[in-house]
Amino acid sequence: MAKRYYDFNTYLRSIYGERVQKITIDAGLTCPNRDGVLSTKGCIYCNKKGSGTGLWLEGLSVREQILRAQHSIQKRYKAQKFLAYFQSFTNTYAPLKTLQKLYEEALSVEGVVGLCIGTRPDCIYPEVLDLLENYAQNYLIWLEYGLQSFHENSLQRINRGHGIKEFLQAIELTRLRKKINICTHIILGLPGEKKSDMIATAIELSKLETQGIKLHLLYVIKGTVLAEMYTRGEYRCLNREEYIDIVCEFLQYLPSTMVIQRLISDPHPEELIAPSWILEKTKNRQEIEKALEEKNIKQGQKIDNFISFQSTSPFFLSL
Ligand code: SF4
Repeated sequence: MAKRYYDFNTYLRSIYGERVQKITIDAGLTCPNRDGVLSTKGCIYCNKKGSGTGLWLEGLSVREQILRAQHSIQKRYKAQKFLAYFQSFTNTYAPLKTLQKLYEEALSVEGVVGLCIGTRPDCIYPEVLDLLENYAQNYLIWLEYGLQSFHENSLQRINRGHGIKEFLQAIELTRLRKKINICTHIILGLPGEKKSDMIATAIELSKLETQGIKLHLLYVIKGTVLAEMYTRGEYRCLNREEYIDIVCEFLQYLPSTMVIQRLISDPHPEELIAPSWILEKTKNRQEIEKALEEKNIKQGQKIDNFISFQSTSPFFLSL
């Protein structure tokens, strides 16, 4: 059965003709929303580990982290090619020389065919984009921007420390480097957002001609402001049915060429407070795919015609 959305594995196979596996890296960096430059509290859903594995603090270098993961992935998935995913904290928030050393350490490991770099839109500068564009001549490069929502009041509510303007500026700067792929992270179920607000985010994103997206469910982990809100009864997590319903609608507004790198988040079980259903990874993916099938929904079906009209119409070209 053909997939009703453009998933990351299909995309990678279309390039390499084989399975390519991401390896998560903790490069020991920090974030301006944690180190005091913007705030010390961080986003309300983030804890002190900054979505990281903590392996850097355990003393493992970038190279050692990749080699350790390769060993188990090769056994489990028989993959021979890998993408080094700089995930923890903000992976462009350091002097250029430091970043270059970290990125090149990853690229020097046998089997690594590219980089995925998670960052904030207010932490990007031309020199780092030039560096990545240079790598992109020989490697696959994805830059992953955390946006989370296209609503200014939501960004304030979750203490992101940046607005939509910074995101749009980052996209504009990045798009000048044609070989860098852009992935946007969006969280569904933010406090105060209705389904219609989340769909409005999808519609705004669809206008930007970026290459990928990661969808996350807002979940509650220990040591966060959100955990305190949850304990006080000020926040309720989406249930599985609500999440699937929103994802099915959301996908219809994303261009069918946009790669869906993730359909739902994948928290560390030992940190999770709620909702428990998020840990059923396979079931969640299967249930989303089943709902898409039953409702006869395909990614892009509410937007593709409009986008092709927009790109060929003399009226829109002249705007
Ligand atoms: S930007 Fe990322 S690392 Fe920084 S506080 Fe927010 S979630 Fe945590």
